[in-house]
Amino acid sequence: MRPEALFDYFADIERLPGIGKRNRLAIEKLAGTRTRDLLFHLPTGLIDRRYRPTAAVAAPGSVATLEVIVEEHRPSQNRRVPYRVVCRDASAELTLVFFNARADYLRKQLPEGEVRLISGKVEHYLNQVQMTHPDYIVAPENAAELPSVETVYPLTAGLSGKILRKAIHAAIESVPELPEWQDPSVMAREAWPTMLEAVHAIHHPEGPEVLAPGSKPRRRLAADELLASQLALAIVRDRTRKKRGRPLKGSGHIRERILAALPYSLTGDQKTALAEIVTDLQSDRAMLRLMQGDVGSGKTVVALLAMAAAVEAGVQCALLAPTEILANQHLATIQPLAEAAGLKVALLTGRSKGKARKTVLEPLVAGEIDILIGTHALIQGDVEFKDLGFAIIDEQHRFGVQQRLALAAKASAGIDVLGMTATPIPRTLTLTSYGDLDVSRIMEKPPGRLPVDTRVVALDRIADVAAGVHRAVQGGARAYWVCPLVEESEQLDIAAAEERFASLKGMFGPRVGLVHGKMKGPEKDDVMGRFQRGELSVLVSTTVIEVGVNVPEATIMVIEHAERFGLAQLHQLRGRVGRGSDKSSCILLRTNEIGDVARARLKIMRESEDGFLIAEEDLRLRGGGEILGTKQSGLPEFRLVDFAEHASLIELARDDARLIINKDPNLETGRGKALRHLLYLFERDEGVRLMQSG
Ligand code: ADP
Ligand code: MG
Repeated sequence: MRPEALFDYFADIERLPGIGKRNRLAIEKLAGTRTRDLLFHLPTGLIDRRYRPTAAVAAPGSVATLEVIVEEHRPSQNRRVPYRVVCRDASAELTLVFFNARADYLRKQLPEGEVRLISGKVEHYLNQVQMTHPDYIVAPENAAELPSVETVYPLTAGLSGKILRKAIHAAIESVPELPEWQDPSVMAREAWPTMLEAVHAIHHPEGPEVLAPGSKPRRRLAADELLASQLALAIVRDRTRKKRGRPLKGSGHIRERILAALPYSLTGDQKTALAEIVTDLQSDRAMLRLMQGDVGSGKTVVALLAMAAAVEAGVQCALLAPTEILANQHLATIQPLAEAAGLKVALLTGRSKGKARKTVLEPLVAGEIDILIGTHALIQGDVEFKDLGFAIIDEQHRFGVQQRLALAAKASAGIDVLGMTATPIPRTLTLTSYGDLDVSRIMEKPPGRLPVDTRVVALDRIADVAAGVHRAVQGGARAYWVCPLVEESEQLDIAAAEERFASLKGMFGPRVGLVHGKMKGPEKDDVMGRFQRGELSVLVSTTVIEVGVNVPEATIMVIEHAERFGLAQLHQLRGRVGRGSDKSSCILLRTNEIGDVARARLKIMRESEDGFLIAEEDLRLRGGGEILGTKQSGLPEFRLVDFAEHASLIELARDDARLIINKDPNLETGRGKALRHLLYLFERDEGVRLMQSG
């Protein structure tokens, strides 16, 4: 159960002043609806109101605070003309401008003949100094109400900075200090403030230094967030390691048959990965390993051989995939090879219903199925194995700890678990997302792959590109056409894709298909299937094809508005082509108004196909302050960590977490109890639950 001291941290923000239904909704989109969400909504900058010039010299464009006498109200007669209030100081006139003004309110705020402090952005208009909708209008006796510096936050429509600031300040006042969980020696060495002091300092900054990622308060909070995640990972690792695994020693006869049936031989990296996995299977400790390999590096066949080794030792295997499409694809790759070697393979997805479902579940519990491939449906309560001994989780970051535990619960004894991911993750980030997991990396591509010819082309040449694709398609080629990502609106993505679909169809005829994220599973699979079989030549899509789709005959990838995609995503998309023996090309269409970072990204794409190098560059480019696009990359989300600036804190947290769990595996000491607060605060409490379940 959540420690009592955290109740206020998780209380709904609606109890804070100024938060009505509408504001709550806006804040929900931005940060979340719990008090803690507001505490961790960090400002992106500062407004400095300490600039106090006279009206005559106030620099246009700057934020200034002026002391003036109110001279005259000039209400407007016409709705399109603003309400003006003329003020002045000793040097010049200052005109205040209000649209849609309420006269009675303005008269009260700005009585003629009285002195007021006015703070806002200075504008020059027809030789006049003016301010439109000043931020503050304060009588001199209330000068204290005017902040000297003020934080600026990321906002959404319908929410003002003032309201958000007020709510955040109230949120800070509403929560108690928590017991210190950081190591006392680290606290002393770094001279860090407490967590709540750090939050306070960042939301009430004395100057811009506090907001820099290198400041003590920022480092303190980043260290907290990192420690929470490292600790959660350390707990999972500790529990898994302590469970005795079953030594799964196979004879090798099924593997031999599969290898004999393969039309190629394994690459060195594939052999090494397989050997590492087989060693883990044979050991009497439970396996917890990640197989990392770029798209097309040949992970699937390694997975199959590993499962064959487990089956040789007499157990059943499960292969869990994040989507229906991927589960189907794994089945298509694995089934022919597995069945040639005498293995029984079945598929179970959310669409397996009624009788179809029964024809899987019955032989599964009878032990007649060796390998079960499936989606989330595989971890439901009524799915029973006779003896599950080995599970592979594809794109493992898409599954939570809960789901992994549910899968493990289907095994009678310690299950061996292998994660797979095609996301090339820089080394520093592997730590943050997977902690100390053993990792097998497949860096080498299967032989015979031709490099993909990557070109960056201006968007205004799209007609030429379409014509080129048309020619290629008439010659029998197959092409992907990925449509622009429109910020935060899947609806708009789809509209753009539908429009492109219509125009390409007009040009190429019926051999064009469309897939997008809002389509139903069967509908999507149908289109993908037709593309796979070659009944469709062009597949227009939003980014749904990103993960794992394998159509070796496809040789052309067109990406519209490539500048809007992240590097990792572009790399994943390009990885869809260059999988067969024919030469492939990737065309990155970009607009002319393109920023430096986007330009650098496209350049890297043109120059490299090495996923790990691209991932490192990606991290470097994101750098300064911008939080990692975790949604895209599938990495866990961090709100307080700047991966470029806080890299050194990652290892610190990892080492600390390891030490803690060695000394105090159940978090029962004084510091251990404090650390439970940390886990809950950062919502890594599945680790705590794991401790309780033993
Ligand atoms: P990943 O799952 O890592 O993206 P796949 O396992 O789908 O990659 O493999 C991509 C393609 O490469 C498949 O068509 C597979 O048959 C082929 N392949 C795998 N290993 C080799 C190899 N050693 N030599 C040649 N082709 C291979
Ligand atoms: Mg694959």
